[in-house]
Amino acid sequence: MLSDNIARLKGNIISSCLKAGRNPSEIEIVAVSKGRQIEDIKEVLRCGLSNIGENKVQEALLKYKACDFTAKWHMIGHLQRNKAKEAVGIFDLIHSVDSLILASEISKQAAKIGKIQNVLLEVKTSSEPSKFGFNPGVLLDSLEDISKLNNIKIVGLMTIPPLLLDKEGSRRFFRDLSILREKIKEAGLFDYKLKLSMGMSDDFGVAIEEGSDIIRVGRAIFEENYG
Ligand SMILES: *Cc1c(COP(=O)(O)O)cnc(C)c1O
Repeated sequence: MLSDNIARLKGNIISSCLKAGRNPSEIEIVAVSKGRQIEDIKEVLRCGLSNIGENKVQEALLKYKACDFTAKWHMIGHLQRNKAKEAVGIFDLIHSVDSLILASEISKQAAKIGKIQNVLLEVKTSSEPSKFGFNPGVLLDSLEDISKLNNIKIVGLMTIPPLLLDKEGSRRFFRDLSILREKIKEAGLFDYKLKLSMGMSDDFGVAIEEGSDIIRVGRAIFEENYG
């Protein structure tokens, strides 16, 4: 049952927060529903979660239209520039902004509908060649450039660590993202605290310990007997 999974997930979040001296109410859960049916999404919303994450614009659009509950929709997958218009139309938060060109296109499309689009910048914390994201070394410059775009608000940073068998293995990538947030804070670019989107079903506990604000959880919510 999804409700049991969600109850277990919330319990685990509380444990991690206790360990880290954090308040569980600070942690946002994004239920990652890629590949799941609309009925399951509705069930998750009925259980009181309100953030739904998808990694493909087309799939998200179909579900968005079919969903008669209010929800906040999150784009967590790689976004192509030619999908920016549709993405801006439905998503509350785009986690995967990985270039200035994409950010400019999002801002342009958002301006057309009078929206300020909330985004996270995806950061490449590992050297895996297939990963999208900004190199940490150029992030400060990119942040300045993107901050100048009128219809974008940078809400925070996101990262996806390499696939590892051991959840502890993710820790150093999460820590690197936290350190980047500190550096940005010291640079004084923003007058609010940037959020970190990091941690999935296998490693959200570690992510919370390292300062995550938004966890993206799929299997631990939607699969039976997970974990
Ligand atoms: C699929 C996916 C998730 C969720 O992964 P689970 O291991 O199922 O929790 C989180 N973030 C991104 C970017 C994903 O593609």
